[in-house]
Amino acid sequence: ATLSNQIAAGEVIERPASVVKELVENSIDAQATQIDVKVSAAGLQKIQVSDNGVGIDPDDVATAFLRHATSKILTTRDLFNVHSLGFRGEALASIAAVADVTLTTATDSGIGAKIHVKGGKVEDQTTAAHRRGTDVEVSDLFFNTPARLKYMKSQQTELGKIVDIVSRLALANPSIAFTVSHDGNMVVRTAGQGDLRQTLAGIYGLPVARSMVDFQAQDLDFQVSGLTSLPETTRASRNYLSMVVNGRYIKNFQLTKAVIAGYGSKLMVGRYPMGVITIQMDAALVDVNVHPTKAEVRLSKEDQLSHLLSEAIRSRLAKENL
Ligand code: ADP
Ligand code: MG
Repeated sequence: ATLSNQIAAGEVIERPASVVKELVENSIDAQATQIDVKVSAAGLQKIQVSDNGVGIDPDDVATAFLRHATSKILTTRDLFNVHSLGFRGEALASIAAVADVTLTTATDSGIGAKIHVKGGKVEDQTTAAHRRGTDVEVSDLFFNTPARLKYMKSQQTELGKIVDIVSRLALANPSIAFTVSHDGNMVVRTAGQGDLRQTLAGIYGLPVARSMVDFQAQDLDFQVSGLTSLPETTRASRNYLSMVVNGRYIKNFQLTKAVIAGYGSKLMVGRYPMGVITIQMDAALVDVNVHPTKAEVRLSKEDQLSHLLSEAIRSRLAKENL
């Protein structure tokens, strides 16, 4: 069982950022309004995610670490009709298979539970005083899978991936306040007031957020809105442009190209705007075959949506006299 857990874990948990993604998604699913991520040595030493969500009942704490244990009941096979981000019940089991995990939780402030699982084995479970919510501490990631550990990139790269994933989740959830600290330094802090520009300020800084232009457009199938940077505030990577469809962040290269097309010749080759594009659409138009851990998503009527998006940006920039 330990070996099959390790194999399955390899598919879900590739690097520290995968741990952060799964834990933060669990906190979002638990209706947290504050989520704090603390990492040491780019997460290779320690990752801590704390939330003020609904918590886990002490009777269910050990079960949460079993593979395919999920409290999120799936009534449809369409990922975009599922309201929770998780539903396969694999993340905690996968993380605990390849690391040392301590989870402390309470459903009401007072007495809760604390469990320690290492390499897939429950070492200890006790009652513990805790405020409402859940703290998960993951240390010694990949301690028992040295091949995986060797595959890690530089700390700067691994940290970049962590900041990237939390930023996307924060932009998809502007009503949740997020922080990310690395070795004691705060690198992301969003206000959680529901305002997208304010959320962007917490990620890319106030001057960049202030200079962004907002746009919106709609047709019979889609509602798009967004905030994107002026042509002079661009980056050499498309990682600073986030797409959110029906409240979930996605990646879709055609839509990225549509945004670039909206800038026309104002954008230098190889440069990408920063910002966030929010799309509302019928869930039935989102490809049902997306892999749950892969963010790359195909959409129906992609050409129509691309056109709507390009035109919305083009006319907005024209109004700026750019
Ligand atoms: P999934 O998210 O697919 O259900 P996970 O392995 O990520 O599977 O989590 C297993 C279960 O543990 C969840 O279904 C949920 O009941 C519980 N859980 C995990 N993290 C949290 C959290 N931060 N707050 C509340 N419950 C949690
Ligand atoms: Mg989950």
